[in-house]
Amino acid sequence: MEHLGEKSYSWKFPLITSILMAIFTEFYAYEIAKDPKANGLPAIFVFIGLILYFSFREGIRGGFTTTLVTLIYYLYIIYTRNLNEEELNTSIETTFVLGMLYFFIAGTVGWLRQTLDHVIERELEQRQRLETIIQQLPVGIVITDKEGKVVQVNRQIKDILGVEVPIGYQIGENTITKFFKKGIPVNGSDTPIYKALKYGDTIVGDDFVVERNGRQGFLQVSAAAIHNREDKVIAAATIIADNTPQKEVELRKDDFVNMASHELKTPLTSMKLYIDSLEKRLNLIEDLKANEILINIKDQTARLQKLVNDLLDVSRLQTGKLTFELENLRLDEVVEDTINLLQNSTRSQKIILTQKDPLTIYGDKFRLYQVITNLITNAIKYSHAYQDILVKVYKKDNMAIVSVQDFGLGIAKEEQQKIFERLYQINDDTIKTFPGFGMGLFISREIITRHRGEIWVESEKGRGSTFYFSLPLIKYEI
Ligand code: ADP
Repeated sequence: MEHLGEKSYSWKFPLITSILMAIFTEFYAYEIAKDPKANGLPAIFVFIGLILYFSFREGIRGGFTTTLVTLIYYLYIIYTRNLNEEELNTSIETTFVLGMLYFFIAGTVGWLRQTLDHVIERELEQRQRLETIIQQLPVGIVITDKEGKVVQVNRQIKDILGVEVPIGYQIGENTITKFFKKGIPVNGSDTPIYKALKYGDTIVGDDFVVERNGRQGFLQVSAAAIHNREDKVIAAATIIADNTPQKEVELRKDDFVNMASHELKTPLTSMKLYIDSLEKRLNLIEDLKANEILINIKDQTARLQKLVNDLLDVSRLQTGKLTFELENLRLDEVVEDTINLLQNSTRSQKIILTQKDPLTIYGDKFRLYQVITNLITNAIKYSHAYQDILVKVYKKDNMAIVSVQDFGLGIAKEEQQKIFERLYQINDDTIKTFPGFGMGLFISREIITRHRGEIWVESEKGRGSTFYFSLPLIKYEI
């Protein structure tokens, strides 16, 4: 493309051309037309043409130079054609008016031209800047027009996908992509960029696997539609980040956690059996110290077992191996049984079931017991010794709801979503001292969502928290 913007405006070329044109007009009048007055009217048209041409070509400077030469030439004509006084006066007046008009035209056209150049230059600069950024980014970028035809790609794309994406490549319903999701090849119409184009959406962080050079790559793909002022989609851009190194570390870590928790589980189970048989053999009524030690050992072993079980659950969740045994259950009874079991573990805090509607749901008894236990033990852990815990089981909008309320530390608004993430613990001086790994709520959320329910929290820092979960009610035919 021509770099119009980088042009510098010349006044010499217009000067020489208009002088030559004046000489030629004089030559025409005397030599060709043989009439010194023959060039009057034509000269006006010829020179206005010149002014227009040069002010557009060379900007204000070119236009003004031509105008100046033209006016000098007009005056030359007026004084060399032996005009009578009246003719002389009219001609000078006309030249004066024409001069004003010419300067105005030259100024306006020249200014338009220069502004146009300036805008083009700025546009080019911006484009170049954008192009440099796109090429330097550590992620792959593909930009398409509104028909899904690729108009721009950066260098990284080839490394990330293992193949080149040529300009003009069509992304559409019939495109075969290199992407896989859960082992199934992904059609062009399921790619984020296609969805962005078709629905005008923004898609953030969709995970795909790509086969490249015989190995798997893990990609995170985002896409956004680009709209014009009338909100019509005119293009789409996709950003592809290569997460393979992180993903490989994560997979190795998951493998390790899975293996370690399995290895830990076996000796722990035997330890528990040995402790039980030791308890039977020792005469604990007489030896109070030994009794106390044994209670501590049992407590610690139970905690260790809980941690190992949580670790195993997390790794089963990661690998999709957490299984459920589903049956029709009375949720209120599961909650009540759990409370009775847990009440023994806290002497000062009372766990009170303030509402227990008889509700039947379809679920896994052991897993739901696990969720309720987690919510109640958290409520105990994160509140003070004298603060009771209130539990409710009730019905709302065809869902069974369980709520667990404490009046303890509470959770700040910005933490309320994050506590359900894997291994998330609030980093707060007041909370740090409590033992835990941040796995409980993550496991609970997974269990509840697999039951097609939801889990959430309402809380105010310093005022306590209420955790809720909902489960679909069984619909009986009447
Ligand atoms: P942890 O094993 O650390 O308790 P959880 O997943 O059960 O793990 O909880 C995650 C974090 O959420 C906890 O570390 C704690 O900071 C916060 N939390 C959970 N329940 C409560 C509660 N009832 N009150 C205040 N904070 C809580």
